[in-house]
Amino acid sequence: MIYLDNAATTPPDPAVLDTFNKVYESFWANPHSLHRPGERAEQLLEQARTQVCDVLGGRDHRAVFTSGATESNNLALKGIAALYQQRGKHIISTNSEHPSVENVLCWLEGEGFHVTRLLVGVEGHVTADQVQGALTDSTILVSTMFVNNESGAINPVGDIARVLSQHQALYHVDAAQGIGKLPFSLVDIPVDLVSISAHKFFGLKGSGVLILRERQAIEPQLLGGGQEFGLRSGTVDVPRAAAMAKALRLAINDLPAKLAGVTSLNQILRDGLAELSGLVCNSPQSASPYILNYSVYGIKPETLLQGLSQSEIYISTVSACSSKTAEPSSAILALTGDEARAQNSIRFSLSHRTTLLDIERFLEVFAATLDKLR
Ligand code: PMP
Repeated sequence: MIYLDNAATTPPDPAVLDTFNKVYESFWANPHSLHRPGERAEQLLEQARTQVCDVLGGRDHRAVFTSGATESNNLALKGIAALYQQRGKHIISTNSEHPSVENVLCWLEGEGFHVTRLLVGVEGHVTADQVQGALTDSTILVSTMFVNNESGAINPVGDIARVLSQHQALYHVDAAQGIGKLPFSLVDIPVDLVSISAHKFFGLKGSGVLILRERQAIEPQLLGGGQEFGLRSGTVDVPRAAAMAKALRLAINDLPAKLAGVTSLNQILRDGLAELSGLVCNSPQSASPYILNYSVYGIKPETLLQGLSQSEIYISTVSACSSKTAEPSSAILALTGDEARAQNSIRFSLSHRTTLLDIERFLEVFAATLDKLR
């Protein structure tokens, strides 16, 4: 099979599964129990927490383990909004966010918050100047994604963080499609809160982290026993935390070489697709090389997807999170302003495991499938 849907999810790395299984066998005790097995589980949990922060250069940050980026995004946005609403009720974001941010923003609007959604430009991202121009005295939070899950467009998170260093507003970054694939260091990019999801970089599903500054308070969204510094109650899944740390370390290992490989495959894919008619590329050249989005004319994207499936080639129409709804891709609509383009978009998403042979074979079958279906 040729799997070009890595932005939806990646398979777990065998080494990650191995860590998960081994930790589950030997460290299954409740890390909050005071007895010896509990203490050993707690040690492992704290080791995983430290590793996650270290990998990202988060010297004065801490990691809160969650069930994924959806939960991390909910905790960040709702938690900061609830805590700082006395200071102001203005939030800045973009018109191109993942539903786990956008739907929370809509909910917050219902709670009386005012949200400015900056419009992404032709490159699919917003600029630090746009953020600067939208800031007011009552802005308490700015939330932008790092890499867009549909177009691959990259927001200038470093520039935005620098603008916000002069302002009370906290900066949250949904980095689900960026961390583990593109260089990212909290030393260079001083953001306040970061959401991560392990299954985007060969880790486990149901495994996320919210990174936040050590002394940063946040209103918890799950109340209970007060685990995870009181920010996320519930018995912590130590094996999953260890597996997250393992997946992240593996992802970061040799990252420049992996990125270079994917960048070159991306270009080969772009060049090959440029030869075909009835296709238009939606991903700017400056986008993350892991994601490539096109609009296809003359065939329904679903029909094309099914045709490719028969040859064991797997791509996606709009992102997996919204592909069961008939809505056009909101990110491609925001980027192109063209409803038909958004309706007809398909996404190829690569990983460092994608090979040249995969891309060559894909281009061959893709061209033949287009011909056949048209
Ligand atoms: N944000 C982005 C940008 C994503 O791509 C995804 C996954 N599609 C999420 C958040 C949600 O991540 P999770 O599946 O871990 O909840």
